[in-house]
Amino acid sequence: MSETGGGGSASNTAGNPASDASRDMIVIGAGIVGICCALYLQRDGHRVTVLDPQEPGGGASFGNSGIFATDHCAPNAKPGLLWELPRMLLDPLGPLTLRWRYLPRALPWLWRFLAAGRPQAVEAASLALHALNLQAMEAYRPLLDDAQAHGLIRKNGWLLVYESTAAFERARPLKIDLRHKRGVPLEVLDAKGVRELEPALTPAVRHGVYFPEVSQTTDPFALVQALAADFRRRGGVIQTGRVTGFGFGPGGVEKVHTDGGPFPADGVVLAAGAHSKTLARRLGAKVPLDTERGYHAMLPDPGISLKVPVISGDFHCAMTPMDGGLRVGGSVELAGVDAPPNYARADKLVSVAKRVLPGLNDAGVTRWMGRRPSMPDSLPVIGPSPRVPNAFFAFGHGMLGLTHGALTGRIVADLVAGRAPPLDLTPYRPERF
Ligand SMILES: Cc1cc2nc3c(=O)[nH]c(=O)nc-3n(C[C@H](O)[C@H](O)[C@H](O)COP(=O)(O)OP(=O)(O)OC[C@H]3O[C@@H](n4cnc5c(N)ncnc54)[C@H](O)[C@@H]3O)c2cc1C
Repeated sequence: MSETGGGGSASNTAGNPASDASRDMIVIGAGIVGICCALYLQRDGHRVTVLDPQEPGGGASFGNSGIFATDHCAPNAKPGLLWELPRMLLDPLGPLTLRWRYLPRALPWLWRFLAAGRPQAVEAASLALHALNLQAMEAYRPLLDDAQAHGLIRKNGWLLVYESTAAFERARPLKIDLRHKRGVPLEVLDAKGVRELEPALTPAVRHGVYFPEVSQTTDPFALVQALAADFRRRGGVIQTGRVTGFGFGPGGVEKVHTDGGPFPADGVVLAAGAHSKTLARRLGAKVPLDTERGYHAMLPDPGISLKVPVISGDFHCAMTPMDGGLRVGGSVELAGVDAPPNYARADKLVSVAKRVLPGLNDAGVTRWMGRRPSMPDSLPVIGPSPRVPNAFFAFGHGMLGLTHGALTGRIVADLVAGRAPPLDLTPYRPERF
């Protein structure tokens, strides 16, 4: 048995040993994805331990914009992006930026990202995202029931707004036409309609698109904490520890090594968000995972109120009403997982939010940076390891990890049990690149 990483050698076609038996399952990562995997595995009767150096929800799941974006059915890359990219990347505080020192390491990811903007790739990714969206909220329902956490969820829809008619028309193919094609409910609003819905918005807003079926959480961190508390209440273990490698035997992973010692395992789920790449390699898959770092500013006493989350399409900035005030979030920064935060990006979000919401009060603002776990094709990695029979992947959810967390957990539990998952997993398989 090899005690460190390096990948197992057994073929996955061997299937899951004792698929009807209760097993010792290790989940790596206590973000929204890992906790949902843990809960669904626990519902199947497995003994589940979650390992994370941080408290549950301390990663990207802490500070997201809280939108269950089940309308979102386009990848982040789009046709023609190549020509816009240099201008975007050169603006250090623009919505998309790259730290130049990171360019050599980002290039392979960027190359694939641009390829994902080809029309056929956009259509394929759109179908794959929509397939997840269709079951996303239903997968949350039993977890919210058990955790009595429905109070953290509101279904009021969200509103996309534009001041610039040119920007609105440029966005139309992906923001409206593609969603229409997928059957996403939406209402196109004029300036009057927008202001009737959200009077706090600047009169400069001339166009809006309202997605009435979308839900939000009023506190993403509290949601993970509530789900984690329910997991513990039912006998689940959450252990502080950073996973460093694996010990392998004939059936795959037998031990999970951490900085605090080894844990025996009958199976392992990798849900370490943006930090999953190295561990995935040790579990037999080379995945082009990187991070699109995002920022938020939390305004505890905003002085205005919004009924629904609002995203400015002009400035790529989300403004979400939450329990602790107004959260202004957004920005994509390609700089790797380890670079220190540049909080000027959060300040920039506040300045554009003040333009969109005149009268916004930023006293007492707090700032945060989070690492979205991003695949270049904007699709998560969900599926069995191609080489290690009892290892399963659940990471790479990019901008939609909150949205797809529960469904990912349900799928992973199905795979571990040897049940057919509720949708075709081909688009999300780890070996697709
Ligand atoms: C500004 C911003 C706004 C966003 N808005 C939305 C939104 O509105 N809707 C939406 O759906 N998504 C949104 N997202 C994306 C969403 O937050 C992420 O996709 C999601 O949180 C990813 O969850 P995760 O569990 O995979 O990762 P994380 O929450 O990052 O959890 C991964 C965990 O793994 C742990 N870990 C790392 N390495 C190890 C190791 N070696 N051993 C053990 N544990 C390890 C980490 O400590 C961490 O706790 C947003 C993201 C950002 C940054």
